[in-house]
Amino acid sequence: MSKIFAVANQKGGVGKTTTCVNLAASLVANKRRVLLIDLDPQGNATMGSGVDKSELQLSSYDVLATDLPARKAIVATQSGYDLMPANGDLSAAEVELLEMDGRESRLRRALREIGGEYDYIVVDCPPSLNMLTVNALCAAHGVLIPMQCEYYALEGLSALIDTITQIQRAANPELKIEGILRTMYDPRNSLTSDVSEQLSEYFGERLYRTCIPRNVRLAEAPSFGKPALEYDRHSKGAIAYLALAGEMTRRHAANQSSNRPVAEAV
Ligand code: ADP
Ligand code: MG
Repeated sequence: MSKIFAVANQKGGVGKTTTCVNLAASLVANKRRVLLIDLDPQGNATMGSGVDKSELQLSSYDVLATDLPARKAIVATQSGYDLMPANGDLSAAEVELLEMDGRESRLRRALREIGGEYDYIVVDCPPSLNMLTVNALCAAHGVLIPMQCEYYALEGLSALIDTITQIQRAANPELKIEGILRTMYDPRNSLTSDVSEQLSEYFGERLYRTCIPRNVRLAEAPSFGKPALEYDRHSKGAIAYLALAGEMTRRHAANQSSNRPVAEAV
């Protein structure tokens, strides 16, 4: 079965889309089968994957708002992962979903049919805790939260954690915080180390050891429709996301073997 991650933080500009595109490419480099779902009407993950959002035949809108099978909206990218793209049409789904039965579990239902085809499904969320993000959280096993180590970042986190707790109670008891990722990281900034320390105290193991540095290559790559790994594979940004994919897959492998019965694990 696929591991499904929602990459969420209601704050804009914290590196959600950058994380989705570069993590997808890095998991592919680790020989994993990956689907990236763009659930943001801005369509940045779509464009950043080299797919023109103005020329989509079908998109995540059709999957959520009509009963289009997920497979029909999925396209292959040049980077080796599959993509369910999005564009401005998706803003209509935000409103249309409110009228529908099972409105928060439309994505979960759609993904059931393709569960076995991917090792990882990564969902790029919009910068708000709206019905699109709720759909991602209901479908996911884990939430990956990218954040910048700034003072107000911690304040914003509590609203997200409240939402996650509500969804765990009401709709998706399996949902976990997969990990907290420090993005645009600058260790020379003293506030960064203070915030980092607080995160480590609060989240413990769930704070990824890998930090993503501020790196201009990560900001340039989307305008070429490529992950940094293809745009400049020696860049610090590309290497950091490869390290994140490694940390993530090692964690999952360790959890899987510790969940197995002892007789099987030895
Ligand atoms: P979000 O999806 O959370 O709104 P983005 O991933 O779009 O955030 O990032 C916001 C902006 O910051 C984009 O212009 C992106 O290219 C840039 N960016 C993201 N991560 C980094 C980084 N580590 N170093 C430099 N620029 C970055
Ligand atoms: Mg984004």
